[in-house]
Amino acid sequence: MSEKQPEPIILPRGQHSISRQQVDEDTLKVLYRLHRNGQLAYLVGGSVRDLLLGRQPKDFDVGTDATPAQMRRLFRNCFLVGKRFRLAHIRFKDNKVIEVATFRRHPSEEELPDDPDEHFHFVQNVFGTPREDAYRRDFTINALFYNIADFSVIDHVGGLEDLHAKRIRMIGDPLVRFEEDPVRMLRALEFAARLDFSIDPAILDAIQKKKELIATAAPARIREEIMELYRHKVAGPVLKQCRELDMLPHLLAGYPGTDESIELICKIDQRTASGVLIEESFAIAALYLRLFMDSCPPSPQVHITEALHKANEIIIPHCRYFSIAQGIRHQARELLVGCFRLSRGRGMRGERRFLQHPFTPQAMELFRLWAEVRPDLAPQVKEWQRALQSPPAPKQPPRRGPRRRRKRKPTTKIG
Ligand code: ATP
Ligand code: MG
Repeated sequence: MSEKQPEPIILPRGQHSISRQQVDEDTLKVLYRLHRNGQLAYLVGGSVRDLLLGRQPKDFDVGTDATPAQMRRLFRNCFLVGKRFRLAHIRFKDNKVIEVATFRRHPSEEELPDDPDEHFHFVQNVFGTPREDAYRRDFTINALFYNIADFSVIDHVGGLEDLHAKRIRMIGDPLVRFEEDPVRMLRALEFAARLDFSIDPAILDAIQKKKELIATAAPARIREEIMELYRHKVAGPVLKQCRELDMLPHLLAGYPGTDESIELICKIDQRTASGVLIEESFAIAALYLRLFMDSCPPSPQVHITEALHKANEIIIPHCRYFSIAQGIRHQARELLVGCFRLSRGRGMRGERRFLQHPFTPQAMELFRLWAEVRPDLAPQVKEWQRALQSPPAPKQPPRRGPRRRRKRKPTTKIG
């Protein structure tokens, strides 16, 4: 790792803006109990960063020198989770969980197991000092600590300076850190977009050199990161930057990332910013809508089964690679086919059933956003919105007359 700061910078209570009132009550209980029992107890990671920036943290993570076994003795409501990555979950009312991790360090080469596949998990499980714990983290701004013992902020890595300069800087050499874990490349772009920070040129340079490695990351982690981009309303700008850095083909093999497609994703980011929750099926359909429309241009001659077939051809490889459940895959496909129906305009066969289908309002929502990118579709949007506001009454089954009793033939007794 790069030249380390000789001593940590410690900002006493009066010299930073974090107050305990901003910290979640249950997290404070956990911190205090650890502290009263003679353990180190810090707020760590994203929460310290966000509090210093005056933002509301998504969650509060706790770091301590207590081992998982010690934590179990200290907290009745403590559950150790993860077979490989031992974490303590302290459970509170309403399924609330505070995550507590023992400080970890980066192991030396000799300590690593022989099997390289074991490295990632092994690396995360060697206990260390707080300083070592700071150095194993990704970016300087993510490695700050808030110490409950004296309410100070502790900075081992120069994170305060970078926070001030609004800069994403890697802890250590980005080339090495991206080789260890390529997902960090995506995280660098994500944090820069979320916080509106600049990215250290050394990071951008290393991404240029190591971009192919993103394809080797575990699909489950990429899937999660992509959803994080959507949840944080930065999917559009980050995918755009991935394209500019030529990382996109390695990140999402089947996704062409055209201008219109990225524009649509920006519209979805705006929708999420307005408070609408993003669903994964919607996110996937948005990624591939433009590609689907190109491969299956809407026209009255194209039969719906062909549209279904094309949608499957596009969605299935994505969902297989990322092990996405059947239900989500089905819904994403229905959204694409729904957009196909909507862009053909009204008056086609099956319209009545389509208007009543449970997926149609979602498809309409996607189509509406798509029409913001493609204004030529605006008239269709209006037409369909009217139809959806007053859906036709369901078809009545044909009325039958009163049932008549068949006259029974008189039976003649034989014999
Ligand atoms: P968010 O607001 O998205 O939760 P966060 O900074 O808390 O942001 P998490 O993904 O929750 O991010 O991770 C918590 C902390 O763990 C990070 O702040 C960072 O210190 C560390 N971390 C997470 N992922 C990595 C990684 N791939 N490599 C090194 N450190 C990581
Ligand atoms: Mg977090």
